[in-house]
Amino acid sequence: MIITIDGPAGTGKSTVAQTVAQELGFDFLDTGAMYRAIGLAALRRHTNLEDAREISYAAKLAKITFDFSTQPPGISLNGEPVGHLLRAGDTTQAASFVAVVPAVREILVRQQQEIGVSRPNLVTEGRDQGTVVFPHAELKFYLDATPVERARRRANQLRSRGEVVDIAHLQTQIMDRDTRDAKRAVGPLAIPKDSQVIDTSSLSLREVVDQIITRAQERRGQR
Ligand code: C5P
Repeated sequence: MIITIDGPAGTGKSTVAQTVAQELGFDFLDTGAMYRAIGLAALRRHTNLEDAREISYAAKLAKITFDFSTQPPGISLNGEPVGHLLRAGDTTQAASFVAVVPAVREILVRQQQEIGVSRPNLVTEGRDQGTVVFPHAELKFYLDATPVERARRRANQLRSRGEVVDIAHLQTQIMDRDTRDAKRAVGPLAIPKDSQVIDTSSLSLREVVDQIITRAQERRGQR
């Protein structure tokens, strides 16, 4: 069973998807980490982030692999474990630039579909999982939350890592990323037609996870 979880930044998708996967005994795929890894590869090559051809070139040379034997799965870029580098501010920004380039999306979509074949019990999260990558997934969810709440959550995450945060600036960055994600020509952020939308603004992680697991168990029972 493939379960897709899409939605904008800061809705708790990663934590929710990871917890659901763990509790169902499924694999977890963080597709944002793949775009972030390409962003990191582009930064390291001093790629001009406004130049789609330069970005495509960097993406073609970047080999991304996952080690599904760990929880969460470890991600490597050309054999180097990079999971701990992917949440830095400059990498986050670079990820949203590389994500608008069609050649990058083509490479990553194909790789995600291959992972869906080799790991058929999968909880996958991103922006286009239910619309483009796994249009026939058995269960699709779209998580949303108000921009204020999403900025507040991101601020808490950063503060817990000892970073100083400007919440107004974070909210502007989140809204800029939303615009770039929703307006791009290929694989834009969109609510899959056959998905269940969950507004997580006033829900706890446990409540969101329980809703998804209940649906997954109902679905299993129907098979
Ligand atoms: O979800 P996360 O914040 O880690 O995603 C990083 C960036 O990758 C996002 O800004 C988004 O533009 C892009 N992304 C995407 N498609 C996905 C997952 C992430 O375009 N399936």
